[in-house]
Amino acid sequence: MNMGKQILLTLVLLTLITFSLSSLFHLQGKEDEAKSEALAPIPDPWITQTIPAGGSIFSVLANLDLPGTEIGMVSWRFGDFIDVTTIQPGDTLRVILNETGDKISKMMFVQEPTIRHLFEARGDSLAYTKEALPVQLRTRILDGTLVTTLDAALLALGLSPMDKQNINNGLEGDIDFQRDARKGDSFRVFIEERIFEGKPLPRAKILYVNYEGVRTGFHELFRYAQDDENSVLNGLYNKEGKSNNSSGVGYPLASIHVSSSFGKRLDPFTGRWANHQGVDYRAAYGTPVYAVAAGTVSSARYNGGYGKEVRIKHPSGMMTLYAHLQNFSVRAGQRVKRGQIIGRVGSTGRSTGAHLHFGLHSGGSFINPSQLRMVGAEKLNKKQMEEFELQKEMIRNQMQNKLSPQVAKS
Ligand SMILES: [Zn+2]
Repeated sequence: MNMGKQILLTLVLLTLITFSLSSLFHLQGKEDEAKSEALAPIPDPWITQTIPAGGSIFSVLANLDLPGTEIGMVSWRFGDFIDVTTIQPGDTLRVILNETGDKISKMMFVQEPTIRHLFEARGDSLAYTKEALPVQLRTRILDGTLVTTLDAALLALGLSPMDKQNINNGLEGDIDFQRDARKGDSFRVFIEERIFEGKPLPRAKILYVNYEGVRTGFHELFRYAQDDENSVLNGLYNKEGKSNNSSGVGYPLASIHVSSSFGKRLDPFTGRWANHQGVDYRAAYGTPVYAVAAGTVSSARYNGGYGKEVRIKHPSGMMTLYAHLQNFSVRAGQRVKRGQIIGRVGSTGRSTGAHLHFGLHSGGSFINPSQLRMVGAEKLNKKQMEEFELQKEMIRNQMQNKLSPQVAKS
């Protein structure tokens, strides 16, 4: 929306400049106009849809007059390439239909104005390429003092709600804010931003956080990251490599890419709207699947559309479901620990490719698993700690350089 305004403004300015230049130099504007009239304008073949707040890939594609199965299948494939949880309102989806108008032949998804995802239909699948405009990386130190709440202070510094939440979750394990936070407490956040056209894009990388107060004492967190940008271990840890988040619930996979969220979607088999009773994670065949929490296996069997599935009953009363497995390595009645391998990713049952369907059953129905506060690890292991020590050192050095830049000696 801002982009649109900017483009419009630029166009207006350009028109004004052209106009004033032509009047200055008495250019033969009329003659030029007559020539260009001979060329008929080319119609834009792209149909453009903007993702509204709360919208999904399904809802925008459903605006097109296409068979439900086509929309269902294209959306399904779309999720293989794009983690659907990264879709933001304002992102645009552009589509070109085939000659008969009943199939999508090309699709372009423009994300946070710098990334273009291009899809081309090749029979039953989509060929995918990604174009990214260059962005600059910038690190920044944000210092703040508590006036009311940490939330308010972080937002006032210009951090996005998502970044704010990450910082909060990280600190909550160490600090009881309700009891111990006081006006005048101080904090520091060190972030890495991607800058495009002079402005930061959403989702900063939080490299470091500290908090100091009379009652809270001093606490600091550092970012640990693995090479795999989707690794569930990437995040904030305290100096000892503890994640500060003891929700007791882990992730069912080591690397997370959400290909389909919980809720309404068009079924690629029936072409009708249906309620998706879980979250789908993209993963390769054979990827280990972990129990997200300790419990007892209530069933491990072949179950129609879900294919090979495992269900685990947890002491809290909730039940977790892992479906479309290639195989399972547990049996009914067996007790499992959090993080224990229960099977491997497959595509059994009603599935169009390798993925894990993860369901969370509580209070008599399946509920949205994104409500679970999942954590990659309570504590980094020995090998991860070695990497973490190096990364901590680098972050400290980067911050030091920001605080007292080395002046080149002449
Ligand atoms: Zn599913």
